[in-house]
Amino acid sequence: MMSGFREGDDSAELVHRMDTGRWQDESFPREGWRFSTFKDMGAEDARCEMCQHARVRFAHVLVHATVPDVILVGLKCAEALQKDDYCGPEKREREYRDDLRIKNDWPKREWKTSRIGNPFINARGYNLSIWKKGPGFGVTIRKENRFDGEYVRNDPRMYGTIEEAKLGALDRLLDARAESRKQKQGRTIV
Ligand SMILES: [Zn+2]
Repeated sequence: MMSGFREGDDSAELVHRMDTGRWQDESFPREGWRFSTFKDMGAEDARCEMCQHARVRFAHVLVHATVPDVILVGLKCAEALQKDDYCGPEKREREYRDDLRIKNDWPKREWKTSRIGNPFINARGYNLSIWKKGPGFGVTIRKENRFDGEYVRNDPRMYGTIEEAKLGALDRLLDARAESRKQKQGRTIV
């Protein structure tokens, strides 16, 4: 009999048991859940709201047309509740964790200086540059090694300092990654 899935390591409290919590409630919907967003539960002792057993760090927030409350679940319960989602909760969580890693590493990254004196950085296939814009600084993002204008976004904002512009560049990078994922997803579905 299948009693649970493992997430992470062998620790019992990381197991999403399929015979505990709301899995025992026959009236609770098992289908029709849609992904909404992620929530970083941080250091608090958060449990998956479906199995009410496994400890969860990055909760998938799922919504349902007929259930008023959202449900915060771990990966394995998210998969079990979204069997029709072939984009896949696993892929989604991997990308989310990857974005978090980019954010955490950002302050440690070293910027270079272009020939014309602008700070720039190459990250995850994108080239991000900071340039003088009026009294402040602007940010431009483009696909690395591709200067034919296929992907270029000028951040409309103006940043007061270079440090602010560097944080703005991080937002633009995360936006670009989200945009690219959406496009790929669109191609898969069509
Ligand atoms: Zn669970």
